Amino acid sequence: TNTLFDGLLKAGAADPSRRFALLPDGRTYSYGDVDKVSARFANVLSGLGLQPGDRVAVQVEKSIEALMLYLGTVRAGGVFLPLNTAYTPAEIDYFLGDARPRVFVCDPKKREALAPVAEKAGAAIETLGVWRSPDESAGSLSDKALAAPERFETVARGPEDLAAILYTSGTTGRSKGAMLTHANLLSNAEVLEETWGFTGNDVLLHVLPIFHTHGLFVASNTAMIAGGSLIFLQKFDPDAVFEHLPQATTMMGVPTFYTRLLADERLNRETTAHMRLFTSGSAPLLAETHRAFEARTGQRILERYGMTETNMNTSNPYEGERRAGTVGFPLQGTELRIADPESGKVLPQGEIGVIEVKGPNVFAGYWQMPEKTASEFRADGFFITGDLGFVDPDGYVTIVGRGKDLVITGGYNVYPKEVELAIDELPGVVESAVIGVPHADFGEGVVGCVVASKPLEEETVIAALKDKLARFKQPKRIVFVAELPRNTMGKVQKNVLREQYKDLLG
Ligand code: ATP
Ligand code: MG
Repeated sequence: TNTLFDGLLKAGAADPSRRFALLPDGRTYSYGDVDKVSARFANVLSGLGLQPGDRVAVQVEKSIEALMLYLGTVRAGGVFLPLNTAYTPAEIDYFLGDARPRVFVCDPKKREALAPVAEKAGAAIETLGVWRSPDESAGSLSDKALAAPERFETVARGPEDLAAILYTSGTTGRSKGAMLTHANLLSNAEVLEETWGFTGNDVLLHVLPIFHTHGLFVASNTAMIAGGSLIFLQKFDPDAVFEHLPQATTMMGVPTFYTRLLADERLNRETTAHMRLFTSGSAPLLAETHRAFEARTGQRILERYGMTETNMNTSNPYEGERRAGTVGFPLQGTELRIADPESGKVLPQGEIGVIEVKGPNVFAGYWQMPEKTASEFRADGFFITGDLGFVDPDGYVTIVGRGKDLVITGGYNVYPKEVELAIDELPGVVESAVIGVPHADFGEGVVGCVVASKPLEEETVIAALKDKLARFKQPKRIVFVAELPRNTMGKVQKNVLREQYKDLLG
């Protein structure tokens, strides 16, 4: 048996004619096709010499074939290692040097630039593009797969074996490779299926990238384990979303998807009435977005919280109150506690501290970073997420920011989220990001970066915060920006802002 593959395909294998995916060009994929195409890729990888535990690094455009390559890698006993499509050859050089994959699969258009990089890392290079027509090659790996047998003797792998290495988003520093086992991924798929009520009747509108845990595991695995299907689109594009929404029952997104949908007049009760569930994660969903979405559609977005290292940790309830601004309760099987960041002492209920988690979802450690791994776990096995938060009396978890974004000014802790919420309430403010920048007297000083919808004066904003926040929390400066710097998952890159404004307070 192969823990992850067998587990994910349980429902699908029982009914091969069941639809797995609908593609934008009208092609469909059945669960029988999933079996055959993943077998073809597994055959090709084995033919390339892939041994159990070998990495298959992949930087390709989103396609259903790329998703099949993930399953094919798992079937062949390999470790799937997807890379952000935005990474440059210099960045790929770092990742391949670190991960030492047996095979590196890239976009046909990038082969020339990346071949030397793959060679240097000792990896065989193959290409995989987006399949367009039967008489146009979609790359060397695709050609080989088409010529390979559609049956494959799946390689046995157990719960503790690695299924994937995913690099973290690099929001707070250099990306780290998180080693994820078969049991990590399967247990999370099972618990999300149950928590969110997924069934074989679900049709998930899939508009997330598949190099990140959200689109690859949360969306794809959860739909697959239930025997449901995907409408598998290249990317988030409002026109395509509204074209395909009528056929969908669920959609998963990052907060920016929802703000963009809210900016579209096609979003209303009628166009979403048939939807069973919208979920949000990867970055904080503003309570205001949650409320505006409900006011417009009657749908309460379900916010959940996870990380590359842990899969999903918490979720608002499917049945029951979805509380705006919170990430809900720990998932079944996951223990969560709030601790003092320095001492690790568990804090009394309601206090703010670092969120720590333990459970079958938590990864096996950082790839080739034993010291980093050791320092991020407590002696009793809890993983220190680095996110700060608290638990309210009803058990809902609220995230107040990342430990690394905490501002310490004159010895006082300022949680950026509290200041951001106060700024966001002001008329004319669209959104804000609060950062700490070097300050001669206080160590750090609070600075608010504000996106405004109308001309605003710095003094007006600072004055308006005077009786809302304690003095030490009040921004020393407000800067206006056209937009906040974000990565593809909608995460605000505060390190970019800190670098940009590092000299602001002298
Ligand atoms: P790096 O670890 O390399 O700095 P990263 O932490 O952004 O990058 P990911 O693993 O993609 O990499 O993101 C996990 C983080 O995303 C969490 O630690 C948390 O800070 C944030 N996050 C995820 N979901 C939510 C949510 N619902 N609300 C607030 N933050 C969230
Ligand atoms: Mg992280």
